Amino acid sequence: MIEMKNVSKWYGDFQVLTDCSTRIEKGEVVVVAGPSGSGKSTLIKTINALEPFQKGEIWVDGTAVHDPKTNLPKLRSRVGMVFQHFELFPHLSVTENLTVAQIKVLGRSKDEAHAHGLKYLERVGLLAHKDKFPGQLSGGQQQRVAIARALSMDPIVMLFDEPTSALDPEMVGEVLDVMVGLAQEGMTMMCVTHEMGFARKVSSRVIFMDVGGKILEDCPTQEFFGNPDARKDRTKDFLHKIL
Ligand code: ATP
Ligand code: MG
Repeated sequence: MIEMKNVSKWYGDFQVLTDCSTRIEKGEVVVVAGPSGSGKSTLIKTINALEPFQKGEIWVDGTAVHDPKTNLPKLRSRVGMVFQHFELFPHLSVTENLTVAQIKVLGRSKDEAHAHGLKYLERVGLLAHKDKFPGQLSGGQQQRVAIARALSMDPIVMLFDEPTSALDPEMVGEVLDVMVGLAQEGMTMMCVTHEMGFARKVSSRVIFMDVGGKILEDCPTQEFFGNPDARKDRTKDFLHKIL
């Protein structure tokens, strides 16, 4: 589904990704962890080319992201992305947030987009809020709308970048519940998160990054948590801090 081969990226002299390679199969849930500044956000944003990279190859469902001839808007329309800050359109209602890209990017009719969007809104438990504006919702509710909005585009993969980090603690669970549900239904997901409970419960693999944008570990979740002594020192330090 997703294949990265020796992806490197620099900002001037500073190397932010170093020879990153990994493969994500259809239906797999991969968690990306690591210290601040290690390039986690940059790595996942290369997948839909929100971050350009200078070296290496990325394939998403057969599309070559590194190929200048690739139609990037089309690729992006198939890759769902949910960020730390919800980034809903504040001046649009929840329903409009859910439908605007379906209409403008996918060319769906208003009715079709509406039906589709509301189906996902119901799924995240917020149908009753369809006519509200983002500012009238809690952080957790806004993030669930953001997930429903991404799902409305029928993505082939969902990328999450610390989707619960900006939320009050009591709202983290409702967002994670939605993500767990998605994972269990077989959505292909790549999630940057510090929620190790989530990682343990639903991910099949953990990618651990270190400063300089290096993938230090890429291993099955059970092994990552179950055998900490076999991990590299840098990973052990990190695990000690967060577990
Ligand atoms: P965090 O956990 O804090 O979100 P991260 O692992 O997601 O960190 P990135 O945001 O991917 O890290 O950033 C990786 C590195 O690239 C950091 O050292 C950051 O300072 C640097 N960086 C990011 N954007 C730029 C930029 N536009 N110009 C120069 N350096 C940048
Ligand atoms: Mg980040």
